[in-house]
Amino acid sequence: MKYTPLIGLEVHVELKTTSKMFCSCSADYFGKEPNSYTCPVCLGLPGALPVANKQAIDWCIMIGLALNCKINLYSKFDRKNYFYPDLAKGYQISQYDQPFGENGYIILSNGKKIGIRRVHMEEDTGKLSHENYVSHPEFASGSPIQQDKVTFIDFNRSGVPLVEIVTEADFDNAADVKEYLQKLQQIVRYLKVSDADMEKGEMRLEPNISLQNEDELKNNKFPKYKVEVKNINSFRFVEKAIAYELKRQEDILEIGELPAQETRGWNDNKQITFSQRSKEEAHDYRYFPEPDIPPFRFTEGGIEAIRTSMPELPQAKLERFLNAYALPHYDAEILTRDTVIANYFEEEVTEGKKNNISPKQIANTIINKKIDVANAKPTDVIKIIQQSATVTVDEDKLRTTIKEVFLENQKAVEDYKSGKETVIMFLVGQVMRKLAVKADASLIKKRLEMELKV
Ligand code: ZN
Ligand code: MN
Repeated sequence: MKYTPLIGLEVHVELKTTSKMFCSCSADYFGKEPNSYTCPVCLGLPGALPVANKQAIDWCIMIGLALNCKINLYSKFDRKNYFYPDLAKGYQISQYDQPFGENGYIILSNGKKIGIRRVHMEEDTGKLSHENYVSHPEFASGSPIQQDKVTFIDFNRSGVPLVEIVTEADFDNAADVKEYLQKLQQIVRYLKVSDADMEKGEMRLEPNISLQNEDELKNNKFPKYKVEVKNINSFRFVEKAIAYELKRQEDILEIGELPAQETRGWNDNKQITFSQRSKEEAHDYRYFPEPDIPPFRFTEGGIEAIRTSMPELPQAKLERFLNAYALPHYDAEILTRDTVIANYFEEEVTEGKKNNISPKQIANTIINKKIDVANAKPTDVIKIIQQSATVTVDEDKLRTTIKEVFLENQKAVEDYKSGKETVIMFLVGQVMRKLAVKADASLIKKRLEMELKV
């Protein structure tokens, strides 16, 4: 039997707003003293009322727009009910049938279109850490229950704005998944709504994977099961988890059985996925509209204002770099990876123009010399090019060229001699043009000064 992989992705991205989603606690919780950034709202105390964070909603809509989604002009929050200590309320405020954005897409470099089913807003949960009782310094050793496992809860993360981005099951291989994730990460970073640092848990990845058999493929039917791998925090692990799952599921199908519909985790040490729990269906969560937050109505004009405030996106910048600077695709891709390198490149291009240095030379230097753009000073790259490009100009040729330029520009020469020294740059330009090689402009300038002082 031949099987076709069906892979979809759920990605959670934490927004870097100043405050949390429904209260005024700081959202900058990473590495802070546990339970120090909390209040009755994000601790889920009875009677506490949530107030939605406008900045977070604007940013969620912005992500939706960047992913070509339709933005719902009527939207609302819903309660997703479940019992687990990471959310003390017993439910997560999320969105069910009216997410802020739906039906978008991302196009991969091979032309494949990946459908975005929805982009919705929700709140992050508290963080549980499972530890051995005796291993924790806060507990005195010698306790009669020292062998027991304990779980610590830190509510600092509880209520941090979280955007969930769900794709259609449009992937059939791990390489495309990786490219999609890189593009998504790049987009939220360009928008400056999240740093999407996976080591800090700011971007968390959940692939859902199943195999379609030939019959299902022919009849355009989904497989009878789906496996979701939870909370992966690196692109490499996603690739490995997908490869592992495809093999595992194929082995089960080959002996005539059906893989269990379940949620699995990824164990990086053993490089395997492992069963965590049977997968919930939407109806298990008993979704219902959040009664404490009124629904939202947006206007076309309001959405357009958000669209207008968006910076240039990676794809548009890439195309502009290809066209405006005549760069090869390889260069343009590297130079648009993030806005720090893109902005530095463009500043140097402006400087380069004054010095007869082409965008391609600047691109080459930044890429080949591995310039640390975050710490490089303006014109650093220009200087490197000028120094390395010092073509030793033939002395006779230089002397005759200078003579010619002086003859053809007597007015400029007189101006210089009568004290208008800025005119020297014009003469340098004339000499460079006649030499038609990448000579060092500063050397020619010195030489001209010498000649003019005679
Ligand atoms: Zn709070
Ligand atoms: Mn979610």
